[in-house]
Amino acid sequence: MKSFSIMLGDITKVKADAIVNAANTTLLGGGGVDGAIHRAAGPQLLEECRALNGCATGEAKITKGYRLPASYVIHTPGPIWQGGHHHEADLLRNSYLNSLKLAEANTCHSIVFPSISTGVYHFPLNLAAPIAVQTIRQFLNQATAVEAVQMICFDEETKRYYDQAFKELCSRS
Ligand code: ADP
Repeated sequence: MKSFSIMLGDITKVKADAIVNAANTTLLGGGGVDGAIHRAAGPQLLEECRALNGCATGEAKITKGYRLPASYVIHTPGPIWQGGHHHEADLLRNSYLNSLKLAEANTCHSIVFPSISTGVYHFPLNLAAPIAVQTIRQFLNQATAVEAVQMICFDEETKRYYDQAFKELCSRS
């Protein structure tokens, strides 16, 4: 039975086959969740990331998890919000979908996402949350090796938006 859950917590503490990093296109670390993941994983993560030559917005690349409890880190640069007319919605959907596909390709059964793009990239939560939950649900409805997907929210306000989006999605189907 496939599972999807929305939790409050710190993604660097989660034991899963893969956690997702809301990275930037350099893949060389930054602030927010990216900085927290690099600090917790240790310097070998940056070393592996350097060899990846960056990543385009909406695409995803995978590394090992090093000192993290997670086995792998899937790095995806989400879009920077620029008002909504610069393909931000499609790019955010791509970030979730390409991360899921990469998890599948690496036989990861459990994968945990942070709230991509809603921090310093300022994607509005009321728009980002439905995109995330719809993309994840659609993916889980297909035949996939991915069995458990979790959204980890760092604060209660963020969690409220994902809970609400999930409730609305369930009531529509
Ligand atoms: P982006 O640049 O994609 O907007 P941020 O890191 O600024 O990425 O923020 C994305 C989300 O990750 C925000 O909701 C932020 O509060 C959250 N976040 C920050 N640190 C952690 C963490 N350790 N675990 C889970 N989520 C985190």
